[in-house]
Amino acid sequence: MEAQSIAPDTDANQVAEQAYALISDLYPICRSITGDGVRKTLRILRKHIPLDVREVPTGTHVFDWVIPKEWNIRDAYIKNSKGEKIVDFNESNLHVINYSAPFRGKLNLSQLKEHLFSDPGHPDWIPYRTSYYKETWGFCLPHKQLMELPDDEYEVCIDSSLAEGQLTYGEYVIRGKLADEVLISCHVCHPSLCNDNLSGIALATFLCKRLSQASPRYSYRFLFVPGAIGPITWLAKNEDGARLIKHGLVLANLGDPGNSTYKKSRQGNVIIDRAVQTVLKHSGREYEILEFSPYGYDERQYCSPAFNLPVGLLTRTPHGRFPQYHTSADNLDLVQPTYLADSFSKLSAVIDILEHNRKYLNTNPRCEPFLGKRNLYRPIGGFQDVATQQLALLWVLNLSDGEHDLLDICERSGLAFSAIWTAAQELAKTDLLVLQDA
Ligand code: ZN
Repeated sequence: MEAQSIAPDTDANQVAEQAYALISDLYPICRSITGDGVRKTLRILRKHIPLDVREVPTGTHVFDWVIPKEWNIRDAYIKNSKGEKIVDFNESNLHVINYSAPFRGKLNLSQLKEHLFSDPGHPDWIPYRTSYYKETWGFCLPHKQLMELPDDEYEVCIDSSLAEGQLTYGEYVIRGKLADEVLISCHVCHPSLCNDNLSGIALATFLCKRLSQASPRYSYRFLFVPGAIGPITWLAKNEDGARLIKHGLVLANLGDPGNSTYKKSRQGNVIIDRAVQTVLKHSGREYEILEFSPYGYDERQYCSPAFNLPVGLLTRTPHGRFPQYHTSADNLDLVQPTYLADSFSKLSAVIDILEHNRKYLNTNPRCEPFLGKRNLYRPIGGFQDVATQQLALLWVLNLSDGEHDLLDICERSGLAFSAIWTAAQELAKTDLLVLQDA
């Protein structure tokens, strides 16, 4: 019998095409940690999954933090004295420092330059900057353009608002057979940036869609939250509920050409850490494993000491290590369906391990059982060759002693999880193996 997969590899390319189309739809929206950009994003995601949109008012205390004012922006530009727009928010929302306070005025070049930001290392790209917790305003532009600005009187307009409002996030729970949960979390606060933000959102959405049709064993909680303040808010409101999370992944940067990278949970050697490493090891491609550090994406919050949840971070190239990171070059050219497909198939393989990692008991532990009379030497689908099949059967029988689960057997044998799981399924059809855990 072929190993049943939650999301078979053959579907990954199709999912990746849909994910890329979703990324293209979400790309133009000006998101931030609060405001209509996040609402609009969640509305688009609701076309695929019926997620709940939750709102928490400005001023609410969440642990050591306070929900900030809500930010919205309608327009922004810089005009020269001829009335020509030389910087236009409508061309790229990265032009405005995210969370810029409203401003209108006329400034000379040196006054204006105090509010202009560029990246000399990449003179053609617009950098992405934020100022969430300090009320200021500013523009980002290509360094080449900044260097060429002539002395002039400039008209500046930032038609934004910072006002009492809400913090908005999306949440969806798929109820499985177990109350125990798997957490999948991604950030939704970046404007026109594809790899950092949209790749994670898109693959989480399609994983959620797939799992909701699959009646899984675990329950799955999907969070689409603004970075940092989002998970802090969720954890503050769900301090007890968080205890149900038995495995978790933060998703980001899943669409670039780099190698898959996994950053371990704070605990460092829990099932999710081992499951991801097993998948990457057997992927046939290069990969990188990073130890936990209290810097990065929202695993920082899930792995804070009071929670210490088993949550790791799955990316391709980590944040800050690709040149396009936090610039206008993190766009629809950087992210490609082929890399999204590879990330999605790895993600699906990780979910398969979580779903199928059970403990079995060998009912005939006194020497090897006689496999021939039970028709276990016939070729079984899902194996590359008969030798691997034989070995997988022997490993499952030998280590199913009440102490080891299938992931233990997979690691000790060096065989792929799918081979071990298929062998266990075959043996469980005979009188030799019974499921031990509930
Ligand atoms: Zn970022």
